[in-house]
Amino acid sequence: MCKVCLDAGLSRRLFVRAGAGALAAAPLLGVVQAQAQPARLAETPDAALKLLVDGNARYVANKLNDRDFSATRAARTQGQKPFAAILGCADARVAPELAFDQGPGELFVVRVAGNFVTPDGLASLEFGAAVLGTKIIMVLGHSSCGAVNATVAALQKGNDLPGHIADLVRAMKPGIEPALKQTGDDLAQRAVIANVHYNVQRLQQEKPILADMVAAGKLRVVGGVYDLATGKVNLV
Ligand SMILES: [Zn+2]
Repeated sequence: MCKVCLDAGLSRRLFVRAGAGALAAAPLLGVVQAQAQPARLAETPDAALKLLVDGNARYVANKLNDRDFSATRAARTQGQKPFAAILGCADARVAPELAFDQGPGELFVVRVAGNFVTPDGLASLEFGAAVLGTKIIMVLGHSSCGAVNATVAALQKGNDLPGHIADLVRAMKPGIEPALKQTGDDLAQRAVIANVHYNVQRLQQEKPILADMVAAGKLRVVGGVYDLATGKVNLV
């Protein structure tokens, strides 16, 4: 993450609020100055989840809030206070800000094909929680996920994939393997859900930052699956 992003996002007050888990990120404080920042929409994990659920309901109903993007642009130069972080897929059809009807500055989004935890993605989510103060992390899978389907095929057939795609599939295998041992018709959807569950558990257990914040009740990690046909995010 660039120094400009760090400078724009950090404040000592937020950092102290983040609690014990944030102590591990203490060296970051050396590069920032406290600044006035815009208000956060939710200050508890439950309130943050409600904002996501309510925003998705508006999206499903095609009744998005009206937004004047230029009106709050100046305030956003002073910092960011996102209330939620999303670990989502790179799939072009699943845009978190749209799916949850949120404006600029409200979601801290990490996207990678297959919405799984990578070292860099984990670091970003730690920064979001411990420094920016996100109250919830949602691992957001979706129906008909190409990365999940490719991993299922690789597990079943052992097929080779070109370039670095093979690395991605290899990294996703541990999360998806349990779905192949379950019975039922819809293996693809089972695999999507298994992948979400696996990465939710990973984030909940990642020490020292995320696990400590979860234990202290300052952060929740939840899973969701976006249905491409309806736009609805079902919690899983
Ligand atoms: Zn996908």
